[in-house]
Amino acid sequence: MTVAIGMRAISRSSAISCSVGCKLVRASGFQHDLAVQSRSLIGGVVAASLCLATEARSKPVPKSLGDGALSGQSIGHVNAGRLVHGLRLDCANGTELRCLPAWSHRWGTTELVTLLRRTGHAVWETHHVQLGVGDLSAEHGGPIPRHASHQSGRDVDIAFFVLDANDKSVATNDYIGFRDDGLAIASPALRFDTKKNWTVVAALVSGPVRVQHIFVSNGLRNLLLAYGHATGASADVIARAARAMHQPGGASPHRNHFHVRVACPTDSKACIEEPRRAAPATPHQAVSKSKKP
Ligand SMILES: [Zn+2]
Repeated sequence: MTVAIGMRAISRSSAISCSVGCKLVRASGFQHDLAVQSRSLIGGVVAASLCLATEARSKPVPKSLGDGALSGQSIGHVNAGRLVHGLRLDCANGTELRCLPAWSHRWGTTELVTLLRRTGHAVWETHHVQLGVGDLSAEHGGPIPRHASHQSGRDVDIAFFVLDANDKSVATNDYIGFRDDGLAIASPALRFDTKKNWTVVAALVSGPVRVQHIFVSNGLRNLLLAYGHATGASADVIARAARAMHQPGGASPHRNHFHVRVACPTDSKACIEEPRRAAPATPHQAVSKSKKP
């Protein structure tokens, strides 16, 4: 079943101005963020992968968020599961979300899709920029390339917001990795946009959807929490953000995107909160275990 959730179109003039001359840099086959950086940035094509985002000139008006829709049964584990009657995230031109073209899996539970739309709306209302979204799950769930999880409609990757040397927002077609001090690993002219990325985190943890994890590196987590404190965010939001954000063990540290996982929906009785534990790896298997969560 395909259920597209849409928003009223933003005027074309507000779209990201990179459709011409902004070359997709697809890092097919990479397994984690450092691999992305090495291919898309160290490879010398950073200029082609980036383009400036125009400031929005009109304000989108969302349709009803459609809360309460019955759909999207998450079955099993995030790394051994499937999705029944999922919702397809609509990233067509004119929404507050921007689906990254290198990542094509757009299906999730009602809770996850609603969370993304709410978060995109919050970012747009505050900064007038679109939220970049990577993979969710396949239509019926199950394994998808380049991920160990993302199998049951509860996971999504979200691109970081990025600033250039002139403090202008940069729209990217793929993920950019950052050091703990917020400078891009492969290009010090680019910086982690803590202000906008904090808006993302605050929106994720402030709504009714239960966010189980926001995977992000420890260094970027520290920057975000410090920004929340410095700008007077509520103690409750800071505490929620601090609980949700953490660097995963045994996987990519997530220096180049947020990986967000929602808790099992209350009406998904066959959903299992925790990932399936892998059998102990043999030394030979351990060599190739570098998939993202
Ligand atoms: Zn992910």
